[in-house]
Amino acid sequence: MKLLIVEDEPKTGDYLQQGLREAGFAVELTTTGPDGLHLALEGDHDLLILDVMLPGLNGWQLLQRLREQGRKVPVLFLSARDQVEDRVKGLELGADDYLVKPFSFAELLARVRTIVRRGRSGVETTVLRVADLELDLLRRRVSRGGKRIDLTAKEFGLLELLLLRQGEVLPRSLIASQVWDMNFDSDTNVIEVAVRRLRAKIDDGFEPKLIQTVRGMGYVLELPQS
Ligand code: CA
Repeated sequence: MKLLIVEDEPKTGDYLQQGLREAGFAVELTTTGPDGLHLALEGDHDLLILDVMLPGLNGWQLLQRLREQGRKVPVLFLSARDQVEDRVKGLELGADDYLVKPFSFAELLARVRTIVRRGRSGVETTVLRVADLELDLLRRRVSRGGKRIDLTAKEFGLLELLLLRQGEVLPRSLIASQVWDMNFDSDTNVIEVAVRRLRAKIDDGFEPKLIQTVRGMGYVLELPQS
């Protein structure tokens, strides 16, 4: 199990490195954002522990660059800043956990072990969720409010795409190529029909309505702004 710590405060960095080594991990430590990014791109770490405020490139920017390169390595943020928006920002960027300084080493160790175990078992994101709607990619099952919903293969593919790209307006042409594997032909209403059927199954009789039509543009799945 290999960890990378990016922390510019020497005392904290050394303390973490030593403690995690004693706990049985291989630990690399670096103190700047650019060096951290370089090491993270080069190595195959099981987990990155990132401070937020770092010289050169902050922890969020570092994570963003990593995700842009398609790196899915789990990330635990350490930060002295405990505002809610910071926490949300880190999690939105794809962090796995967030620990506010000062923290106890025991707590850090417990979180590190949880994240590493989850990463190893490969059961990270097999269930996509929004509100009370759940789509289980492994079992190919969909439910809303705990009620099982039967979908055709195409409806399932459409819902999966909408969920994976939650909040993004998806043009019909994109839906056509991703779900139907066909070029979009504006004469066909196959997508409208499929969306209508999907809506009838997952939105009728439930609140809030999740699939929205954006006129002239396409469809988006998101929680309506209240
Ligand atoms: Ca710092």
